[in-house]
Amino acid sequence: MGARPLLNRRLDGLGTTIFAEMSALATATGSINLGQGFPDTDGPAEIARAAADAVLSGRGNQYPPGPGIPELRTAIAEHQQRFYGLGYDPDTEVLVTAGATEAIAAALLALLEPGDEVIAFEPFYDSYAACIAMAGAVRVPLTLRTPDFRPDLDELRSLVTPRTRLLLLNTPHNPTGTVLTPAELTAVAALAVEHDLLVVTDEVYEHLVFSGAHYPIAALPGMRERTVSISSAGKTFSFTGWKVGWVTASAPLVAAVRTAKQYLTYVSAGPFQYAVADALRLPDEYFGGLRTDLRRKRDLLADGLTAAGFEVFQPQGTYFVTTDITPLGEKDGLEFCRSLPGRCGVVAIPNVVFYDNTEAGRSLVRFTFCKQDEVLLEAVRRLQRL
Ligand code: PMP
Ligand code: GLN
Repeated sequence: MGARPLLNRRLDGLGTTIFAEMSALATATGSINLGQGFPDTDGPAEIARAAADAVLSGRGNQYPPGPGIPELRTAIAEHQQRFYGLGYDPDTEVLVTAGATEAIAAALLALLEPGDEVIAFEPFYDSYAACIAMAGAVRVPLTLRTPDFRPDLDELRSLVTPRTRLLLLNTPHNPTGTVLTPAELTAVAALAVEHDLLVVTDEVYEHLVFSGAHYPIAALPGMRERTVSISSAGKTFSFTGWKVGWVTASAPLVAAVRTAKQYLTYVSAGPFQYAVADALRLPDEYFGGLRTDLRRKRDLLADGLTAAGFEVFQPQGTYFVTTDITPLGEKDGLEFCRSLPGRCGVVAIPNVVFYDNTEAGRSLVRFTFCKQDEVLLEAVRRLQRL
């Protein structure tokens, strides 16, 4: 081949995702994997059985309808009404996607022109940078800083330019665990209305909130017609491999996102769509139980990491806890995470890969706590050797 690089220059530097790198390292070294966020116990057995029944009874084994099966679109609309009082028409205002990942990609590819600026809170989830790049747009970071990772709303305001098209939100926020407050969301919404901006909001951790509550920005005045809300079944129901996600938005926004989505996967996960429709209708005790269980695991891991000498930033939501390794005499999170499996058999994620302003994240390291108690306890024992 000639001298021209094979990889499109928009994707330059995006290489292998940190999750793939670190999970491969965990497997190769037999380490405890507190890196990539996936539970080590599956979700409810009756939901797994619903998926198996769908396969065996021939529901969803052939291409489901492009926007998703009506049963699931109805269940998603019911869920938005039940938890947030938001009304969406299942036929025109709901779209089923291949996980939140496809929803994010389709939304950004559909809504952005080359050169548009997208303001996002950094550290950002890795697919945001890639999808903004694939759309030819420009990411503009608002850095969430230690110790409390709150957005500086004056700085946010100062980042808006005539080229700003979209605000990309993530609440609860991966990796910091920040849950945006009603006051913060109101300020963001006011800015969006004032400058006529679109908002894409990734709410995959909506049910994993330990203090305060999750508030969807779509519920605020003037936001319904400019907000694309994204969520998925992976985190809420502990089936991250099923890759069933969804978009709720006004009909014109859903039509735009659907246009891009049609040419990404067209459709996916037929039988799982039936099972997720059942999952969304689980009783309140299921959602409360998940939260209680994860809150306990958060405290278990956070206490253990503190005892091991890390500075721990208590997350309000998600199943991640961010730490600073400086008190351990370490400076570089990437180096630390690459050496950690060899040093003590634990894998974590260096937050620096989620920053443009790498200085702000250099010494920060993320651990997940969606693992069995004994696994978390063993990881903590190992980390205390540091
Ligand atoms: N957004 C965030 C913030 C995430 O942490 C993840 C990781 N699961 C996703 C989106 C992707 O979700 P899904 O697995 O449904 O594609
Ligand atoms: N969302 C998961 C995390 O942050 C990883 C998903 C992935 O591997 N892309 O750990």
